[in-house]
Amino acid sequence: MNQKKKTALVTGASRGIGAATAIQLAQDGFFVLINYTSNESKAQEVLDQIRAAGGSGELCGFDVSNPNLVDEKLDGVAKTHGPLDVLVNNAGVTIDSLLIRMKNEDLDRTLDVDLKGAIYCTRAAAKQMMRARSGSIIQISSVVGESGNAGQSAYSAAKAGLIGFSKSVAKELASRHVRVNVITPGFIGTDMTAALTEAQKEAILRSVPMSVFGSAEDVAALAAFLASPGSRYITGQVIGVNGGMYM
Ligand code: NAP
Repeated sequence: MNQKKKTALVTGASRGIGAATAIQLAQDGFFVLINYTSNESKAQEVLDQIRAAGGSGELCGFDVSNPNLVDEKLDGVAKTHGPLDVLVNNAGVTIDSLLIRMKNEDLDRTLDVDLKGAIYCTRAAAKQMMRARSGSIIQISSVVGESGNAGQSAYSAAKAGLIGFSKSVAKELASRHVRVNVITPGFIGTDMTAALTEAQKEAILRSVPMSVFGSAEDVAALAAFLASPGSRYITGQVIGVNGGMYM
């Protein structure tokens, strides 16, 4: 019998953790919507890789920090593919600075993308999933949302906010069989962390009991589990992928 594939939207899937998650979900049989904001050629490379491996998906570019665009795009997705089965809120930016030097526009951008963007996407997806009485929403927060980090107060506020938001929404949606869980990655080797100096990387490694950095695939593996029926009784949880950096 030709069963329709389940649909997963991964925000910020053109690179890093989002790209690895999109590739893993496609391998697990999902039709994957690959979101990006500016880097269409990188997103296309991810789609090409998925198709070359026998998977399926399409590009779905939009800025998660634009609430009208988010509603419009997710409505369009539902009309074409039916209700979303999985949403991975992964899109994120880091604009680091010490508090006393923090610029208003950097604070706004960080909260707009990392916190409000995830809220807008969750709200739009939740409407579809509640009607379908099924769905899994996976938030990519950060270890610094749990532990704090000097120089990352805006980013930490956004990522901690995402945890509180997700626990509340998990309670609201549980009776409709829509699950909401949070992944808190530690130090993962991607473009986001490539900008750190060797001295900064060495300092971070000293705080990681496993003494190695994680990979985007380490995070993708947990996201894939949280998207799968094996996690059907797990909701409202915050799960670290951090080599023991925060316990
Ligand atoms: P990355 O390599 O810098 O990639 C960021 C992704 O987000 C790109 O696909 C980018 O799209 C997309 N994006 C940025 N702003 C967007 C917007 N407004 N709308 C839609 N997409 C947007 O990042 P990463 O390291 O893989 O991180 C992914 C997530 O994990 C982030 O939420 C980050 O905070 C979190 N995280 C990362 C680490 C780490 O060590 N790397 C640790 C903890 C948490 P374009 O390519 O189009 O720009």
